[in-house]
Amino acid sequence: MPFSSLSEIKARLDAGETTAVEVATRYLQRIAAYNPTLNAFVHLDADHVLAQARASDAHRAAHGARPLEGLPVAVKDIFCTQDGPTRCCSKILEGFEAPYDAHVITRLKEAGAVLVGKTNMDEFAMGSSTETSAFGICRNPWDVERIPGGSSGGSASAVAAALAPAALGTDTGGSIRQPAALCGIVGLKPTYGRVSRRGIIAFASSLDQAGPMTRTVRDAAMLTAAISGHDSGDATSVANPPVVDWLGACDKMDMKGLKIGRPKEYFVDGMDAGVRAEVEAALKKCEELGAEIIDISLPHTEYAVAAYYVIAPSEASANLSRYDGVRFGHRCEAPEDLLDMYTRSRDEGFGSEVKRRILTGAFALSSGYYDAYYLKAQQVRTLIQQDFIKAFEQVDVIATPTSPITAFKLGEKTDDPLTMYLSDIFTIALNLAGLPGLSQPCGMVDGLPVGLQWIAPAWREDLLLSTAAAYEAATEWGTLCPQGYAADGGAL
Ligand code: GLN
Repeated sequence: MPFSSLSEIKARLDAGETTAVEVATRYLQRIAAYNPTLNAFVHLDADHVLAQARASDAHRAAHGARPLEGLPVAVKDIFCTQDGPTRCCSKILEGFEAPYDAHVITRLKEAGAVLVGKTNMDEFAMGSSTETSAFGICRNPWDVERIPGGSSGGSASAVAAALAPAALGTDTGGSIRQPAALCGIVGLKPTYGRVSRRGIIAFASSLDQAGPMTRTVRDAAMLTAAISGHDSGDATSVANPPVVDWLGACDKMDMKGLKIGRPKEYFVDGMDAGVRAEVEAALKKCEELGAEIIDISLPHTEYAVAAYYVIAPSEASANLSRYDGVRFGHRCEAPEDLLDMYTRSRDEGFGSEVKRRILTGAFALSSGYYDAYYLKAQQVRTLIQQDFIKAFEQVDVIATPTSPITAFKLGEKTDDPLTMYLSDIFTIALNLAGLPGLSQPCGMVDGLPVGLQWIAPAWREDLLLSTAAAYEAATEWGTLCPQGYAADGGAL
């Protein structure tokens, strides 16, 4: 593979062939070379990265290696980190320094990872293209005139161009899987409650979940193993979830007898014909590998986007009420009174997509409309959950395209929020149902990557991993890298 996976770097570190400092230095060089074009990182403190790498080498020498010892991991700007700024790519968090690390950040540190910078994202994770970032657009290394997807676009772009071997993202309605698909990498959204949300800046609390964005399925398993588990500081992180043998699942690479559901609602007119053909070909391949493809129906799929775009903005409008210019973040100049301070600070600090969500959400929750919108959307959510429960009586996993289109041109959808929302059509339903999902590369259309999405029953990430690992081992798609970012000298 031209770009190293976490597992490959780990093997070389464990064999004493390289050091954490050497590895970190190489990635810092690549960031210096390519980030000016891609804008995948919005914060980087090279000295701090090297200090962590030195500490990791010392830890290895003194006490042996922890699971992620010396492995660089980039994290989305949505995770609170005590070192450096945490801004969720919003002007309203200007100057904010988080007083504590997010639980997943603590977990990564405890596992020995070297944290590399903060990655670009849509402001407050609201978007599908990373164009709403207050720190400028991010570009897709496969074609720099195109979006990397969103909202975790910086993490996807960084991993696709090997500015980091792996990254963390968050997924409320597709923000790990969709950018992973559009940048040709692997993205895993765990079951809701598998990973603690403490210290992750909240967008829609009943949907948000953190997860890995990596080059390989095994790397995704490694990172999920490190970040998952109960946290008493997050009441929605589940106390005794079914345990997964994360790495063992990746070794069970046998599709024989696996029942794969193919929901007819996810193969519709209007989606890109090339994407459809690539995903159909991937299913053929699975059939050759011994799986059985079963046509299924998830009849309430068509209501998922509408339900999500009521529920997510409603929760966002409540979560974002804390940004009032009083306690932290941006405060307007010379406010006349308290109300003036609130309104002007918020008006100056939030971008237009965030304002649109707050207004939509506040409207949907307001008295007289609550039943018609929020309550109705919650009822639809239950129907969508039941669709999946029924489907999983028939099949083990479900396969769909991750996105109906490949990466679109920068600016193509910025004036048309509804079309932008529609691009989330295949990723949103499983967030509403709380299920785990994984996207992996499964083809190319006109030089742009296509993603294959796997959906499993709650807590069955092992099924996602073993299925995706089997597909990955039988195809070459996961090994493709964008032109122009080739590993110089092979040390990566
Ligand atoms: N694109 C979706 C939205 O804008 C999903 C974002 C996400 O998963 N954070 O809400």
